[in-house]
Amino acid sequence: VLGAWGLTEAGAGSDAAGMRTTAVRDGDGWVLNGSKTFITHGSIGGVMVVMAVTDRAKGHRGISAFVVEHGTKGHVGRARRRTSSGCARATRARCSSRTAGPRDAAARRGGQGFINTLQVLDAGRIGIAALSVGLAQGAYEAARATRRSAGSSASRSPPFQAIQWKLADNATRIEAARLLTYRAAFMKDQGRRMTRESAMAKLYASEIAVRRPTTASRSTAATASSRTTRPRSTSATSSSLTIGEGTSEIQRLVIARQLLGA
Ligand SMILES: Cc1cc2nc3c(=O)[nH]c(=O)nc-3n(C[C@H](O)[C@H](O)[C@H](O)COP(=O)(O)OP(=O)(O)OC[C@H]3O[C@@H](n4cnc5c(N)ncnc54)[C@H](O)[C@@H]3O)c2cc1C
Repeated sequence: VLGAWGLTEAGAGSDAAGMRTTAVRDGDGWVLNGSKTFITHGSIGGVMVVMAVTDRAKGHRGISAFVVEHGTKGHVGRARRRTSSGCARATRARCSSRTAGPRDAAARRGGQGFINTLQVLDAGRIGIAALSVGLAQGAYEAARATRRSAGSSASRSPPFQAIQWKLADNATRIEAARLLTYRAAFMKDQGRRMTRESAMAKLYASEIAVRRPTTASRSTAATASSRTTRPRSTSATSSSLTIGEGTSEIQRLVIARQLLGA
């Protein structure tokens, strides 16, 4: 079963705790009311975890997580929204309103939804960091292959020294991003908290993934202007990596809070 995870709403992205979707008890079940947007696999997933406010007075401790199976009674609408990463992921808006009686974990662990959200984001950021390293690596490999095929004498001649610097800088940054990602993944595997490490890995890796295709394109010039070349085709996908699982600004906030103990 392909799963989706519904946190973001039209008016609540970075400030997820400001969500408007509510869940109210109804007999031995719940009634969810609201809509979510930009949910990866939202239109094709068999099941979606939906965050909803169960007790507004408790702030973020009043948010619970519900497991809603596709086709649950009352579930309506599937507005489609294309994102620039459409080639790699099915990211669609999915609306649900008055979704009745989900079989859910919230009944047992009500109010844990936001805390659970932060843990999900900590882990998810490692995944985005890994995707970013792969995309940056792909663009770099394509640029390197083009330069190598231009001949070793051309690669060594003075005009190409600047290109060599770009390749060297790229390789170094990609390696740094890879090691940040491995460190966060290693800590997760050990069951340690890695909020700061996963945010650092995600921030750095996604930022270089956005910049790398551009630099790689400049290394291959006209060849890269073809829509089919890897540097160009990865550019759109990588830009969404600096948004999903929290934007770069939010990663910086998370890291700073960890550093300052705030
Ligand atoms: C490809 C893709 C897949 C996604 N998949 C999912 C998913 O599966 N599930 C899900 O729930 N959501 C998903 N999202 C949504 C994503 O998590 C949100 O887009 C993201 O959190 C940003 O929210 P927003 O778009 O509402 O932007 P906003 O929160 O409105 O932010 C707008 C701008 O303001 C900046 N900003 C906001 N607050 C601050 C602050 N306090 N300090 C400094 N700057 C700030 C942001 O960095 C950004 O540049 C996905 C998004 C994309 C692009």
